[in-house]
Formats: sequence, C-alpha cells, structure tokens
Amino acid sequence: RVSTNNLDSFWMPFTANRQFKQDPRMLVSAKGMYYKNAEGRQILDGTAGLWCVNAGHARPKIVEAIATQAGELDYAPAFQMGHPKAFELASRLTAMLPSPMDHVFFTNSGSESVETALKIALAYHRAKGNGSKFRLLGRERGYHGVNFGGISVGGIVSNRKMFGTLLTGVDHIRHTHDLERNAFTRGVPEHGEEFADDLEQVITLHDPSTIAALIVEPVAGSTGVLIPPKGYLEKLRAICDKHDILLIFDEVITGFGRLGTPFAVDYFGVMPDLITTAKGITSGTVPMGAVFLQKKIYDAFMNGPEHVIEFFHGYTYSGHPLACAAALATLDTYAEEGLLTKGAMDADEPGDGKGLGTYWQTALHSLRGMPHVIDIRNIGLVGAIELESIPGAPTKRAFNAFLKAYEKGVMIRTTGDIIALSPPLIVEDHHIDEIVATLAMVLKDLE
Ligand code: PMP
Repeated sequence: RVSTNNLDSFWMPFTANRQFKQDPRMLVSAKGMYYKNAEGRQILDGTAGLWCVNAGHARPKIVEAIATQAGELDYAPAFQMGHPKAFELASRLTAMLPSPMDHVFFTNSGSESVETALKIALAYHRAKGNGSKFRLLGRERGYHGVNFGGISVGGIVSNRKMFGTLLTGVDHIRHTHDLERNAFTRGVPEHGEEFADDLEQVITLHDPSTIAALIVEPVAGSTGVLIPPKGYLEKLRAICDKHDILLIFDEVITGFGRLGTPFAVDYFGVMPDLITTAKGITSGTVPMGAVFLQKKIYDAFMNGPEHVIEFFHGYTYSGHPLACAAALATLDTYAEEGLLTKGAMDADEPGDGKGLGTYWQTALHSLRGMPHVIDIRNIGLVGAIELESIPGAPTKRAFNAFLKAYEKGVMIRTTGDIIALSPPLIVEDHHIDEIVATLAMVLKDLE
C-alpha cells in the first residue's frame, strides 16, 4: 500500500515536486467526481485532474474500450499503416467542426499538438512558395506547453528564461502593461474594439509579411482564466486574413466541452486555420492530442507540383490504438450524457438536466467580498478566484488555499495567486455547492 509515510524507499519522479519542493500528496484511485488518497480520504476533483478528465474518472465504457483494444490490437505503426479506429476517430472528430476544418493530425499531448501546428504553419507557407513567412507570433500570458516551440511562442518569461535563444523570429503581442487596458484582463470586458485597434497596430509593427502564424488560447487557461473581450478574436481573424497569417487556436483546455460548447470556436463563432487539442480528447485516460487543420493546408502539402509530401513529421505513437479506442469511447460518453454542453448557461433551475453554467457562475460569485478576493471570473465550467498577493510572496496565499482545501477534501489548482477551477463535466449542483462551501471556509481563515 502506498502511503505518504513510507515514500523514503522510492525515488520521487521529478515532476511530482515541480514548483513547490514539497512531498506530493499521493492519490491512489479515482471514480466519478472523486479521487481517493493514500490515507483513504475522498477528494472532490475540482480541476478534472489537470483540466483533462472531462467525463469523470474511471468511466466504465472508456475503461472497457481501452482494455478490449489492448487485447485486440495493441500497436500499429503510425506511418504507411493504418488501423480502423484511427480512421473512425479522424472522421468523428472532423465531423464535430464545420468544413473546411476537415483534417486531423494525431499527437500524444498538448505540447506535441502545439509543435505540430507550428511546424505545419511554417511548412504551409513553404509549400505555397512563400519563403518570406518564417516568423511566429504568440501572446503575452499565453501558455502553449513546455516543448521548445511552445515555450518560445508562450508568453511566460519565467518558463523560458533558462533555455537560451529558443526559436528565433518569435514575437509576442503585448498590448500594454496597464492591466486596465490589456485585452485579457480581470473581469470579462464587454468591449473589444479599443483593444482591437491597438492590436492592428501591434501586429503591423512586427511586419506582417514575415509572419507565418499567430497562436492564441481563445481563453487563457493556465495563466489564470483570462477571457477575451467581445470582438477581439474576430479582429484577430480579420488581421490574419488581411496579411495571410495562419491563425492557430490552442484549445488544449477549451476543447471538448470546457466552455459549455464542444470547442471555443463554437463559443466565440470564430474559425481559425488550425486548432490544437489534447486533454479532454481521451478524458485524461490514454495520452493523446490532435491538431485540426483546414483543407487548404492539407491540400497545399498533398497537391504540390511534385506530388511529394515534404512535410516531415509524426510520432511513433501518433494515432495509437489504445488512445483512439479511449477517444472514441470518450466521444460516445460525451454524446450520450450531453457533457459537451453541460457548462452552457441555459438551466432554468438546478437539477433540470440542462447546462450548469449559470449555477456555476452564481455559486462562484457568492464568494465575492470574501477576504483577499480581488476578482472572480467564469466561463462554461471554468472559474478563477484571484487573490490579493502577500507583498514579496506572489504565490503564497493561493498555495495556502490549495493546501487547506485539500485538507478539507477538495482539489483546486493555483497559478500565481489565482485559484483555477475546472471540475469534470459530470459535476452536479451539489458538487458545486461542496466546492464553494469549502472555498468559503478556506478563504475565511486564510492569512
Ligand atoms: N496548451 C495549453 C493551452 C495548455 O493548457 C497546455 C497544458 N496545460 C498545453 C498546451 C500543454 O499540454 P501538455 O501538458 O499535454 O503537453
């Protein structure tokens, strides 16, 4: 039996103590909305693991699909070979998005999806004979995983400062350091027009004729649930169209129902050229990611004058049979239980089976006015509670909240002094009540 007390006999995996240099809290099993820890305590999952377990834990249909697949076809080479479930999954996924988002490239994680999308974008312009488009644009406070491309286009300096020059030719949209005038900021800004004007100027400063692609999270997740103002993503689309820049939406978090719509593109009504996904695609079971790409991009590779696919890319585990089986069962579960719209804001009353977005919003905002709370944000089934920082200790207050909430049996996540919440989409109103009541107790006693 694993317990936190006899860990001395094991090597700790490096990632387990990332950030906090503390003994990790050991989780030994999970079912539905709950983890069980090494002490046998039930922990309500307020974060869907790491924003990924959208269908809830250990769902029988998904478990069975993985087990059956392992016995039937455990592996098939990713190149020149195929297997039926990869084809079925590609068809099911692309059917979830309107044409011309017609093609899909399988990866094994969000970071790999980002690298794949960036490479596709660069190669697309080459395939079209446009050699001058070699630069990539990201956004301040954007998070795009941990691989070299992702940290280069990511807008978090601390994540890349130890790794030298990284990708060259990368710039970041930085509207202004004035939070009140930053497009992704506290609250949910109503009017995007003024930011959009700034944006045009900023992009023009970077010489758009050299820019291959712009990557943005439609809602910034890991940097604290920052929601763009109305009109902002539309404006990005228009600027990209004008300058022949490919627009990439990083939907690793927002994909698969997190916003109360299947994808953020459905929520915002803006269609990029490429979409990166992972996490919810298999509901956190078998590692998988997928990049969606528009037909024009696929065609540029396939119908080039030489009839040679020069785009060299792909992973040993691209479209792994276990991942495909898990994803298909996950999509079935989402469809059968209406989970991809569970976070919509259309419920008339709790428990009526419709979207829980309104209930979630009301519950979270009941924490307004609690000690240290300076902002509360929500969209779909995502929430953020921003705390005032202790001077000189910018992450301490939220981390203490995390420790206290865990002690009381609720798992939350923190980024800086922001508490981030994203429960599995099977969440019910009584779970929301439990999360919020626990947070109320935690905030009341927080130093
Ligand atoms: N992009 C976004 C928007 C993410 O939130 C994440 C992970 N939180 C990633 C990429 C990287 O995904 P992974 O950890 O699966 O590599």
